[in-house]
Amino acid sequence: MTKPDAHDFLDLDAELSGEVRDMRDAVRAFANDQLLPNVAEWYESGSLPAAELAKGFGQLGLLGMHLEGYGCAGTSAVAYGIACRELEAVDSGLRSFVSVQGSLAMYAIYKWGSEEQKQEWLPRMAAGEALGCFGLTEPDAGSDPGSMRTRAVRDGKDWVLTGAKMWITNGTVAQVAVVWAQTDDGIRGFVVPTDTPGFTANEVKHKLSLRASLTAELVLDGVRLPESAAFPEVRGLRGPLSCLNEARYGILYGVVGAARSCYESALEYTLSREQFGKPLAGFQLTQRKLADLVVEVNRAGLVALQIGKLKDAGKLHHNHVSFGKMANVRSAIEVARTARAMLGANGISLEYPVMRHMANLETVLTYEGTEEMHALSLGQSVTGLAAFR
Ligand SMILES: Cc1cc2nc3c(=O)[nH]c(=O)nc-3n(C[C@H](O)[C@H](O)[C@H](O)COP(=O)(O)OP(=O)(O)OC[C@H]3O[C@@H](n4cnc5c(N)ncnc54)[C@H](O)[C@@H]3O)c2cc1C
Repeated sequence: MTKPDAHDFLDLDAELSGEVRDMRDAVRAFANDQLLPNVAEWYESGSLPAAELAKGFGQLGLLGMHLEGYGCAGTSAVAYGIACRELEAVDSGLRSFVSVQGSLAMYAIYKWGSEEQKQEWLPRMAAGEALGCFGLTEPDAGSDPGSMRTRAVRDGKDWVLTGAKMWITNGTVAQVAVVWAQTDDGIRGFVVPTDTPGFTANEVKHKLSLRASLTAELVLDGVRLPESAAFPEVRGLRGPLSCLNEARYGILYGVVGAARSCYESALEYTLSREQFGKPLAGFQLTQRKLADLVVEVNRAGLVALQIGKLKDAGKLHHNHVSFGKMANVRSAIEVARTARAMLGANGISLEYPVMRHMANLETVLTYEGTEEMHALSLGQSVTGLAAFR
């Protein structure tokens, strides 16, 4: 009988194919060489070398990796989830960078764009030569995106967009923005080159969470676009929600990495630090905490793997994703908070990753549907009764 591995207690990675394990190792090596040594500095300064990172992620084939064609790798959903996990083991902001590019901006164009829009943007975005952002949230429309005020009106054959979007990841560095707006025909999506006159992106400052990520307010002041800028078919919230479902899938897998990193830090720290004449890990109260952490990390990993298998089998419902996002973000936050305390005073330092993860996970709890929104989705799923309003 083999003793369980403290780092993969349920041996979940044995479920992965050799190809996915190779990809995991490549992403982990890149993360350890290129990201981990710099992340504390990026976090502290609230900056990110976005163009350089995009090229690196592009070369690894991580941008839009689960999409087919147009320069995308066409991997399985589980493979994409594992990549998110390895990136988020470094920082949720870095996983967000890849999620927003691949699952929001690229997926929106891939799923709803015209062939011309796909040919124009997807190959460059997959290579990391162009960055995209996804503008749904507004200052007065968050959980209720149907109340958005950004409006697109026809002027001859053109469209003219006016409004504002808030909290938009990569908005200041994107070459293209997918913007959702009200029209006379319901909510529609637009592919907006960010150098179009009337488009500005202002950095959101003073964040105490997800600092290794660039966040923007987008202002659309009479942005004039040709008819071909609109997504041709999709109308209503079905368009943006389909993209959010993809990104939420990456989150429910990604947070397993953040939780794992916190658990590993707490394990290593309590094994090496001595108080009262022995390692902290030798005290019963510490072992109780370590046992809780290893259970939460592995349970979240199991939930992610099962949801990934459902996605690969074409059986994934959006309520499975709500289940996974709610359950796994909750687990990761509990792990981060417990691990933070286990490191004592060092737990509040950027020299260790734990409080950085803990602060990041507050954003992850809120974006892509707050915990309350996912609870309401699950409630509706099991009761048949909607309680959103
Ligand atoms: C760092 C960061 C990056 C982001 N990146 C993007 C991005 O790239 N693109 C994008 O479009 N958006 C982005 N967002 C926005 C994010 O998706 C929204 O913040 C989120 O949808 C919540 O909206 P809100 O902040 O307006 O909160 P609100 O909707 O105002 O909610 C506030 C609180 O009220 C609760 N609440 C709301 N309605 C109900 C109800 N019916 N019943 C019970 N409770 C309720 C919520 O759960 C929450 O706890 C980002 C946010 C952050 C913080």
